[in-house]
Amino acid sequence: MITVKDLHKSFGKTEVLKGIDAKVEESEVVCVIGPSGSGKSTFLRCLNLLEEVTSGEIEIDGDVLTDPKVDINAVRSQVGMVFQHFNLFPHKTVLENISLAPIKVKGLSKSEADKEGQALLDKVGLGDKANVYPESLSGGQKQRVAIARSLAMNPKVMLFDEPTSALDPELVGDVLQVMKDLAVEGMTMVVVTHEMGFAREVGDRVLFMDEGIIMEEGSPSQIFDDPQNPRTQSFLSKIL
Ligand code: ATP
Ligand code: MG
Repeated sequence: MITVKDLHKSFGKTEVLKGIDAKVEESEVVCVIGPSGSGKSTFLRCLNLLEEVTSGEIEIDGDVLTDPKVDINAVRSQVGMVFQHFNLFPHKTVLENISLAPIKVKGLSKSEADKEGQALLDKVGLGDKANVYPESLSGGQKQRVAIARSLAMNPKVMLFDEPTSALDPELVGDVLQVMKDLAVEGMTMVVVTHEMGFAREVGDRVLFMDEGIIMEEGSPSQIFDDPQNPRTQSFLSKIL
């Protein structure tokens, strides 16, 4: 589903991604871990063309994103992204937040978009919040709305960048549960996370990034129980 070849990304003279090679199969859940500043967010943002790639190739479901002729908006509608901070529109209701893009980008009628939006809200456990404004929601509820909003575009891939790290601990579980449900349904997902329990339980594969490269990758049990690279060992010893 996703193939990344020798991806480099520099900001000015600083090279942040130094040659990433990675593959994500359809319906696979790949978790990305690694120290702060190692390039995890930059990598994810390249997959959604939120960053201009310096060199290398990214292919998602047959579309070469790094081809200058690619339709960036078409790519973005196929690759959903959920961030640490949810960026909901404060002056729109929860349902309007979700149905806005399907109406504008996919050309759905308001009633179709609202119907699909309501179904997505039911799915993330917020069926009764359609008509409230984001400010009245908890952080975890806002994040679930943000996930529903991404899903409304029917993406082929979902990217998550530390979706629970800004949440109070007691709100994390509901968001992870929504992500687990998506994984079970077969969504292809790349998840940057500090939730090692999630990575172990839901991840098919774990990538350990450090200093702009993938230092080690393997199944969750390989990475967590038997890491081979000294950097992986040292990182895990600090967080587990
Ligand atoms: P964290 O765990 O703290 O979120 P990360 O692994 O996601 O870290 P990135 O945000 O990808 O790391 O950043 C990697 C490096 O790239 C950092 O040194 C950062 O300062 C640099 N960087 C990221 N975005 C930019 C930018 N727009 N301009 C310049 N440097 C940037
Ligand atoms: Mg980051």
